[in-house]
Amino acid sequence: MTMIDIYNEIENGERISKVECIELLKKGDFLKLGELAGKICFKKHPKRVVTFILDTNINYTNVCYARCSFCAFYRNKTDKDTYTLSIDELKSKIKDAEKKGVTTALIQGGLNPDLPYSYYLDLVSELSKSSVYVHAFSPPEIDLMSKISKKSIKEVFSDLNQAGLKTMPGGGAEILSEPVRSKISPKKINTERWLEIMEEAHNLGIKTTATMMFGHIETDEDIAEHLENIRSLQDKTGGFSAFIAWDFKKENNELGKQVTKTVSGIDYLKIVAVSRIYLDNFDNIQASWASQGKDVGEVALHFGANDMGSMLVEENVMRQAGFRAESTTKEIASIIKKAGFKPALRTTDYKIIDYL
Ligand code: SF4
Repeated sequence: MTMIDIYNEIENGERISKVECIELLKKGDFLKLGELAGKICFKKHPKRVVTFILDTNINYTNVCYARCSFCAFYRNKTDKDTYTLSIDELKSKIKDAEKKGVTTALIQGGLNPDLPYSYYLDLVSELSKSSVYVHAFSPPEIDLMSKISKKSIKEVFSDLNQAGLKTMPGGGAEILSEPVRSKISPKKINTERWLEIMEEAHNLGIKTTATMMFGHIETDEDIAEHLENIRSLQDKTGGFSAFIAWDFKKENNELGKQVTKTVSGIDYLKIVAVSRIYLDNFDNIQASWASQGKDVGEVALHFGANDMGSMLVEENVMRQAGFRAESTTKEIASIIKKAGFKPALRTTDYKIIDYL
């Protein structure tokens, strides 16, 4: 099969295979991929609305036993600069966020085995009392809660759901391919467990996103494997609300010392385009402007992305890795307009709050 054959298949609205995905990643023409992904995106979003969310990202603890080699955020529990936020401290952060007009709090933390199960339930139930929507945890944290409480994943989700959890971020995925995970995060849950936890969440009506962190030791085959894993689960459950890819940041972590390649804007845009093409069962593909900068975020809207992600008020994990992104609602809206689209603020589950 030639590249032209694959392009024709995509033009005809056919689903491409994993092997074809690898071909696109290896040999796909940059502008052709953008054109194809842009057309697919337009079919799904003909009103040319591009959304984003006013978001804060709160990390409740930096104590973590997983010690992933790409992570600059975690601390060992004996380190001097560890922290764990009390429920009261979290409530006060949420209050501050509320004053700034933030609509959603993305709440995640390290895998801290000393936190009791009740901490997570209290976190959700107390914070859900505010007007800020609680979008919390990730599959590795759910796995830890299951171990601490000795409850099944289903029971943990059911408890969290009763406490007020309605959606969960798709963190802890990195690359869902075992040869990579076993090297960069051997103590974290494996691919099978990540997918199993997501499936349980979806079965209980808890929508999640799916993420991917690329640009380190993974191959094109690993990226295709990752995309295939989430596309297959989406076929089964339909529970993923969006896909978000961001590139690995090398600063202040072990993996950064081993990785020589650097992800360019073109590399990033190619991943956005191939994701839009391959993930034919996803409505929303996010351009993580916080990861690659606003200019690339703007171009990504012509490479298959229909969402600009978060306007972050607090972001500790990437800040620890030497990367800080800041913007304002006005600036993001003007970027979207400049690219030829209509900006709108949205909720976590992609409902429009306001056109700007
Ligand atoms: S990425 Fe998450 S699980 Fe891995 S070390 Fe950092 S905080 Fe822990």
